[in-house]
Amino acid sequence: MQTTISLNDYLYQENDTIETGSRPAHQVTGIFRTCTWWIIKLRIFYFTCIILRSPQKILDIYKRMLSLRSNVWGGDLKKLYHIGNKFYFNQYTPGWPSKAYDDLIKSELRRQAAPLDTKERLSFVFLAITRKCPMRCEHCFEWDNLNLSESFTLDDLYKVVDIYQKEGVLQIHFSGGEPMVRYKDLVKLVRYTSKKTGCWVLSSGFNVTPQTARELKEAGCKGMVISIDHYLPNRHNAFRGKEGSFVQAVKAVKYAQEAGMVTSISVCATKEFLDGKHLMPYMEFARDLGVQFVQVLEPRQVGHYAGKEVHLEDAHIGLLEKAFTTINHHPSYSQYPTMLYHGYHQRRVGCFSGSRSVYVDSAGDVHACPFCHTKSYNIIELVRGEGKALPQKENACPRFGKIA
Ligand code: SF4
Repeated sequence: MQTTISLNDYLYQENDTIETGSRPAHQVTGIFRTCTWWIIKLRIFYFTCIILRSPQKILDIYKRMLSLRSNVWGGDLKKLYHIGNKFYFNQYTPGWPSKAYDDLIKSELRRQAAPLDTKERLSFVFLAITRKCPMRCEHCFEWDNLNLSESFTLDDLYKVVDIYQKEGVLQIHFSGGEPMVRYKDLVKLVRYTSKKTGCWVLSSGFNVTPQTARELKEAGCKGMVISIDHYLPNRHNAFRGKEGSFVQAVKAVKYAQEAGMVTSISVCATKEFLDGKHLMPYMEFARDLGVQFVQVLEPRQVGHYAGKEVHLEDAHIGLLEKAFTTINHHPSYSQYPTMLYHGYHQRRVGCFSGSRSVYVDSAGDVHACPFCHTKSYNIIELVRGEGKALPQKENACPRFGKIA
């Protein structure tokens, strides 16, 4: 594979210089990786045995777990990263070893063993903490909520965290609007939340400096997802509606890495992006940036894209699926970051949203995910009400249905 894209070339165009690595930082390779994966799988098998007890069930459910994993990753994912004292293979799975990782496995085992048992709880929440944002993104799913007066006080946000922690939530990703607009509250919230729950921050890169990245890490933030929608600065800036946002985003990745966080970049793969053959150059750019994960999102007709012809066609989906399986599994691409593409498993086994995770938008409305506006309740009414219980969440993905 020829490298055609050099990150520094692009930065040079904007008269800036940032040192980059040539492969995902902290990637685990060789015998160390093989042994670690075996230990992880044996631990899953151990939990299968102690939870299910009956030999037939153990075998069936263990096989079902492996099959689900294979459908989610398009095969037996081997890519693994060692950051801090934890191993990561997915930005939506707690690092291993940890109680949070074990709890996730146990919960999934019980769910697979008894899919109709509604006692299993949410494990993941996206929480939009602010309506403020300096960007004007083409695909923004929060478009109708943006830049109005804030819905959540800091005290509301603490109470929201309390509610979901009681639910057993293992990871909270703080988003917005732009969560770094509300930086002081964000740090307090991360410090408060991270005692019990893994915290990540989703940002455009705004206000991410060496100091803010370090403070977030010290407060307990595990990782950052930075939105970068193109490897060409002018295309990214146009997509985001803001000059200079590309350099800001790239710097944010670097600062998060220097602070010791797991890093991911997120891209909305539009028809123009895919038709223009930008996916592989983008993956090369991500590799040179040294991030562990690349999240590729499909455009959806919500927010700023509502009513627009943005849904991908079959050829685009085929291209994404091919890139997803190749980059994650072919030895020639071992130095590329792990690619996350939810459309792959959604079209095969359904969607995790609604049953395992929810999206709390910046008005407090709770949906299955950022891209399916399926409001089932408002969390602000709940936290300000007297002793109201969290409603049964069954706002499953209306497009792909839920995973058993
Ligand atoms: S997508 Fe995110 S960064 Fe872009 S305008 Fe919407 S809230 Fe802001």
